[in-house]
Amino acid sequence: MKTVYFDNNATTKVAEEVAAEMKPLFCELYGNPSSMHTFGGQIGQKIRRAREQVAGLLGCSPGEIIFTSCGTESDNAAIKGTLAMYPHKRKVITTRVEHPAVLTVCREVENHGYTVVELSVDNAGRVDLEELEKELDEDTALVSIMYANNETGVVFPIEKIAEMVAGSGVVFHTDAVQAAGKMPLKLSESNIDLLSLSGHKLHAPKGVGVLYVKKGTRLSPFMMGGHQEGGRRAGTENVPGIVGLGKACELAAENLEEENSRVRYLRDKLESAILEKCPDCRLNGDKDNRLPNTTNISFEYIEGEAILLMLDKHGICASSGSACTSGSLEPSHVLRAMGVPFTAAHGSVRFSLSRYNTEEEVDYTIEKIPAVIDRLRELSPFVKKS
Ligand code: PLP
Repeated sequence: MKTVYFDNNATTKVAEEVAAEMKPLFCELYGNPSSMHTFGGQIGQKIRRAREQVAGLLGCSPGEIIFTSCGTESDNAAIKGTLAMYPHKRKVITTRVEHPAVLTVCREVENHGYTVVELSVDNAGRVDLEELEKELDEDTALVSIMYANNETGVVFPIEKIAEMVAGSGVVFHTDAVQAAGKMPLKLSESNIDLLSLSGHKLHAPKGVGVLYVKKGTRLSPFMMGGHQEGGRRAGTENVPGIVGLGKACELAAENLEEENSRVRYLRDKLESAILEKCPDCRLNGDKDNRLPNTTNISFEYIEGEAILLMLDKHGICASSGSACTSGSLEPSHVLRAMGVPFTAAHGSVRFSLSRYNTEEEVDYTIEKIPAVIDRLRELSPFVKKS
């Protein structure tokens, strides 16, 4: 049975071009980039090239890129590294819909005497900017607000937020793990101070990420040891991962617009067919400000997990809530923050597409879904009662 992969916000396929670029770095060019010899020096050159490629996608200078091991590390480093630089400031502002890589860290620092404000969102998942403006004060060390939500795809007005935060002299971090490679970025013209991205969400391998640190932003080193990454993130580099990420960023930058319109067409086709063919379902999130690849749909009266299991029988991979938090019986904290009713939040499914999906896969899924939903509704005690 063919696999139809609609779970690209969880992770993506490594692009063939990326894998090809990485291959020689395992058994042929395996030197340590810090070594004095020419063999090692060649590897240093590969890392420099990758740094330029990442900077190309982000519209910043290569010296502002720090390679990390993942998006989670970048988020942790941004938050903890900023707070360490401003010990007299005791307040952090974030949102209720962040990924756990940000929310858990913020809730942890709360245990150390910080005030953490989690901004609310409306029922379309839009953040309340007036609330942000009211909360920004002299005690605020950091504002951390995601670029795009991993569960709904809702994109926040990050440039506007960054401008507001810069005006009050506070450091601004954005988790752009889902946005990088999908949204055009020009960080040299932006007020964003810190930005996280993750390789495996944009067709690079797992185990590599980036923290962008705007020149002049104060951040304490987050891994101590050698001099790698300018002394900010010590440890021998994951060279194949870094080289792969460089290539993935180059590919994303080259094809961004064209890919977005193709993926958006497929997503819209899938979404409108589901909404049309399945009764009692609703779209979650701001339809007009979303990533082009994501749709999050709630099916009333049935469990998202049951839908996933039935789809899985047809080879269709999707997700209910974020992969990192699935396994818990609690409905998604993002949908709850948006005020999605409990029954609808429980029956939510996220489909996230990529450049590798085809129209044939979308048509196949459109053909299978209505019968899956009908069958589960027949079995649902809630439908009979209502
Ligand atoms: N931030 C967001 C918005 C994410 O979607 C994810 C992963 O799903 C992460 C952070 C964590 O990234 P990583 O898996 O690279 O640690």
